[in-house]
Amino acid sequence: MRNIVLMGPPGAGKGTQAGDLASRYHIPHISTGDMFREAIKNKTPLGQKAEAIIARGDLVPDDVTVALVKERLSQPDCAEGYLLDGFPRTIPQAEALDEIGKAIGRAVNAVIDITVPEEILIDRIGGRRVCPKCGASYHVRNMKPKVEGKCDVCGSDLITRKDDNAESFKVRLDNYYRQTAPVSDFYKNKGLLHTFDGTGGKEKLQGVLFAFLDRLS
Ligand code: ADP
Ligand code: ZN
Repeated sequence: MRNIVLMGPPGAGKGTQAGDLASRYHIPHISTGDMFREAIKNKTPLGQKAEAIIARGDLVPDDVTVALVKERLSQPDCAEGYLLDGFPRTIPQAEALDEIGKAIGRAVNAVIDITVPEEILIDRIGGRRVCPKCGASYHVRNMKPKVEGKCDVCGSDLITRKDDNAESFKVRLDNYYRQTAPVSDFYKNKGLLHTFDGTGGKEKLQGVLFAFLDRLS
């Protein structure tokens, strides 16, 4: 059983790892950030509500975010487990997830916390380019696409995320330390927290995470 939460500061590499983890274990990758960006792209009421908040680096209100995740986790493809990426980000969200997990009979059984020092995060976010179509993530120096400016996966033109500017990043990091870091302790107290060093590069971390999650049952 793999009901997993992926945690870590912005730029830790959650999104980069999540796709490969989800396909290896045949569980859906549920990224609240991706869901919000999709809503913004489609100009839905949720997207209109979230757009300015996300651009400045703030958190979308808990009630909105919890409702979105609750709906998503109730879908049939979560019956065999799930990989949450970017949720929960606050203590109220973590408490709500406890309730949802009970209700669907799939309580979280492992939390992966990826740690990376601040100066590396700043460099990673500054050089990050993303694919607006499939969500794949690159870096102008450390993780270049095969063809400059184009997504390896789907060929789309890469963009810089609106919230990947110095000012919004500062807000995001600040929110992370104030609101999200306590969520690590919440799971630590439950004996569910597993911490991994995220500085070693994509393949290295992937190997360690596969080894850990292969054994999780
Ligand atoms: P990153 O981890 O790089 O900061 P994400 O793609 O996970 O980026 O999230 C982007 C933005 O979407 C966040 O800065 C926040 O505004 C919003 N968001 C995502 N997940 C949540 C959440 N669980 N609660 C509140 N806001 C969220
Ligand atoms: Zn793509």
